Amino acid sequence: MELTKLDADELPAPLADLRKAYDELKAQNLSLDLTRGKPAAEQLDLSNELLCLPGKDVFKAGGTDTRNYGGLAGLPELREIFSGPLGVPVPQLLALGNSSLAVMHETIVFALLKGPVDGEPWVGQQIKFLCPVPGYDRHFSLLKQFGIEAVPVPLHEDGPDMDVVERLVAEDASIKGIWCVPKYANPTGAVYSEDTVRRLASMPTAAKDFRLFWDNAYALHHLTEDAVEIANVLELATAAGNPNRPFVFASSSKITHAGSGVAFFGGSPENVAWLTKNQSFGTIGPDKVNHLRHVAFLKDTEGLLAHMDKQRAVIAPKFEMVLYMLEKRLGGTGVAQWSKPKGGYFISLDVLEGTAKRVVQLAKEAGIVLTPAGATFPHGDDPRDRNIRLAPTFPDIREVALATEGVVTCVLLAAVEKLSGN
Ligand code: PMP
Repeated sequence: MELTKLDADELPAPLADLRKAYDELKAQNLSLDLTRGKPAAEQLDLSNELLCLPGKDVFKAGGTDTRNYGGLAGLPELREIFSGPLGVPVPQLLALGNSSLAVMHETIVFALLKGPVDGEPWVGQQIKFLCPVPGYDRHFSLLKQFGIEAVPVPLHEDGPDMDVVERLVAEDASIKGIWCVPKYANPTGAVYSEDTVRRLASMPTAAKDFRLFWDNAYALHHLTEDAVEIANVLELATAAGNPNRPFVFASSSKITHAGSGVAFFGGSPENVAWLTKNQSFGTIGPDKVNHLRHVAFLKDTEGLLAHMDKQRAVIAPKFEMVLYMLEKRLGGTGVAQWSKPKGGYFISLDVLEGTAKRVVQLAKEAGIVLTPAGATFPHGDDPRDRNIRLAPTFPDIREVALATEGVVTCVLLAAVEKLSGN
């Protein structure tokens, strides 16, 4: 039933039905959580061999004794495995600690305090970053932490609205960066088209030290057999005469163990030398034993891809379940739209404008925790109060089904309340 087309006198009946359904939902005393995009224990189990690797007497890789200090660039054997999938040549790819978010944080700190290779320190300047929305809340809070202004720009299915991006960066020299999750974006699953990547890599920018913060967190995280590829940002930027523009980030957090994976940084030789030099004051080298464990476990790029097939087998059915239930109960109602991602960790649900907060509140009171409404926008402020991020990976499939069913009831109730003027 298309709820948005109902006349005022037709709304009380569905409103009463939905209130009853909601009371029944509450009576189930659920305790479910669809908030953070964490791997489920079943996914972590796929990599448990790591816990016994590299083995008591195995600590050498090539000429490196991984137990010792040194090797700021990380173990070459591991960089080799990830180089192809991340589209970064081995000499320009660093294997670092356990969190790419930490590397993004460091990169911003170094740019603020020391300046990028081609610019003055950003600190003291009133700088801004473009933020395609909806986006990743931790990117936005990282900006807030350092007083960097977040400028929202619309994100479409093929990437940020490039007309808006090009106009803003061309006219405003205080815009120093843009957050990009180019493949299977958090939360919409957007995949940047070749044209988008090319335009980002080549567009004229008023700031000569403008950076693409290229967070390729889901580079290998396909949900279908269609292993989507994106254009190579480093190659395109270099060809366009902007070799230092991309900072590429990735990690194995959602490949092996989220808390003890390996983060990667890629960039031009100059950017890589810049990061390494700045890091050298704070560390004598990354955890190469962890790098070696990952080499022993994944073996080669093929091993890595085969491992991701196993991940997909665990999580794809959960996504299918959510999409099936959304379609079944919200399809044709006119009060919700959602993304159908081909990869990544999230489904982005747009509910009737002005009801997202209400939906999250109703769900909470029914024992279903959702990411706060607005979290996908800078400062938690979704101007249309309609976007909700669903993260189906962590709960088991029965819980995913129960939670989605409950969320749908809340979406419908909030919509009919709103349409009724209640
Ligand atoms: N970037 C994006 C887009 C993410 O969704 C996440 C995890 N939710 C991260 C980075 C965090 O990565 P890491 O575990 O490597 O710090």
